[in-house]
Amino acid sequence: MITRERSLLIIISGPSGAGKSSLSSYFVDAHDSCRMSLSATTRPPRGDEVDGREYRFLSTEEFLARKEKGEFAEWAVVHGHHYGTPRRFLSECAERGESVVFDIDVQGSMQLRKGYPDAMFIFVLPPTRRALRERLEGRNTDSTEVVETRTKNALEEVSYVRRFDYLIINDNLDQAKADLEAIVRAERLKAGRADWQRFLADE
Ligand code: 5GP
Repeated sequence: MITRERSLLIIISGPSGAGKSSLSSYFVDAHDSCRMSLSATTRPPRGDEVDGREYRFLSTEEFLARKEKGEFAEWAVVHGHHYGTPRRFLSECAERGESVVFDIDVQGSMQLRKGYPDAMFIFVLPPTRRALRERLEGRNTDSTEVVETRTKNALEEVSYVRRFDYLIINDNLDQAKADLEAIVRAERLKAGRADWQRFLADE
């Protein structure tokens, strides 16, 4: 359990089908002081998605107006829809001392790199291209065309891997969860983040 610790921005990125959402939701459920980032999107809600829970669902007009006003910490067009992280959401989480886990695409991650250099950047990949394709096909939610596009996009996305701090190969979900825990633990123990001033404060 993470308690009395500084808030972190934990960015999880990688191709669709890599297991980002399973890993992110595992992590926020396991840590009280941690929550998922609430993105805005122009994609229509799916199934039982609720506005303000999975996403803030906006019209394209509204999204673009907010983007113009600089309200997003990062934004990108992913699979034909706009997605963005509201700055205000992040500042409110920081005020409450909450850590935030992001499940976002690689373009958005690279924008956060510039604006939030203290954030940690984790790339998630399935072990092979074949495994990725099988996962996308196994979801049964996407047409063959969508699976094709997403498998192709994955090749482009993988070219970003070196710009991330950590790579999790998601061959086995339990192992991937343990890797994520280890990464966050090590990040918290970095000398630059640790609370060494307390050592000097009293005798
Ligand atoms: P979905 O529509 O399936 O929920 O998400 C599609 C893709 O958009 C996923 O790869 C997800 O990581 C990405 N995504 C979701 N929210 C954001 C966001 O706020 N910014 C960016 N850049 N990508 C996002």
